[in-house]
Amino acid sequence: MVHGSPKITLEEGAPPLLRWYDACRRPFPWRETNDPYAVWISEVMLQQTQAARGVEYHRRWMRAFPTLRSLAEAEDEEVLKAWEGLGYYSRARNLLRAARLLQERGFATLPASFEELRALPGVGPYTAAAVASIAFGLRVPALDANGKRVFSRLLDLQEPVDRRVGEKTVLSAFERMLPADRPGDFNSAIMELGATLCAPTSPLCGECPLEFLCLARLRGSALERPVLSRRTKSESLEGLLAVFVSGDRVFLRRRPPAGLWANFEEFPWSAPPAEQESPLTELARRSDANCGGEVRCSFTKWRLRLAVRIVRLHSPGDLEAVNGRWANPSELAAATLPAGSGKIRERLFGEGIIPPPPPS
Ligand code: SF4
Repeated sequence: MVHGSPKITLEEGAPPLLRWYDACRRPFPWRETNDPYAVWISEVMLQQTQAARGVEYHRRWMRAFPTLRSLAEAEDEEVLKAWEGLGYYSRARNLLRAARLLQERGFATLPASFEELRALPGVGPYTAAAVASIAFGLRVPALDANGKRVFSRLLDLQEPVDRRVGEKTVLSAFERMLPADRPGDFNSAIMELGATLCAPTSPLCGECPLEFLCLARLRGSALERPVLSRRTKSESLEGLLAVFVSGDRVFLRRRPPAGLWANFEEFPWSAPPAEQESPLTELARRSDANCGGEVRCSFTKWRLRLAVRIVRLHSPGDLEAVNGRWANPSELAAATLPAGSGKIRERLFGEGIIPPPPPS
């Protein structure tokens, strides 16, 4: 038994997860079809691209090359042009090579077997499993970085998930939970959970359908999971930091009493996925904010690059609902801030955006 309570098993997670997925999944075009070709294109596109950004690319691609055959017969230049903006062009070249290979072998669409999918150019175990399960209903776990994070947290796994032992443990938990009747939806639901609620730096456990069996939630260790081996490079995240200014005062948010930088004050920020940005940073994005460059900081394995927005608010009441305060120059100077916010404070004073307090 893996879980804290001997009465709860991993298998019990599948039905609530699928119910949540049915009710809350984001309506992407590749989720409205079982066409193996369309699913394959989406899985390859999303390898390095955020889902929301991939929507328009996927639509355009499917208009230009609606079938495997149309792709196989396209010119290299046309295909690379359709990929423009997505980067990592080897993915487009591999799609084309795979389509031509399948056409030569007489396939009208993709093969309905994990092994044959896996053997195609540019198709790794994750993509093969995603296509096999979503398009053909085969019961194979599609484990990507999102899935590794979710299962590391469900198990409160202390082994590095990027090493063999850790990955095997996660995979075996995934296989146990994967239902026979809706494996494709289950795989998509795990990815969706990792991309929305079980985010790297801000898991929304209170809304999570698996909260009742999550050991990291129970033990308060979600932010420390997954563990990565020392060889693993740190992960980079990009986000937005907002400096709200009203007169000569700035807004400092108070962090929650537990977790990362507990109780610290800071300038409000949020990192991806974009769908989870806080109302504060949405406000910063909407207003005609001045761009204040960027700030970089890191914690545990995360490297953050935050675009700074300086937002002059005419009505400071906009932030009433947020736990924080409006600090005058002396209070700002005296506040204890984490490194990233500390750098911003230096700039605010240095560039005269906020008048420096008189020397005490
Ligand atoms: S309860 Fe929290 S940490 Fe656990 S899977 Fe859900 S969002 Fe992730």
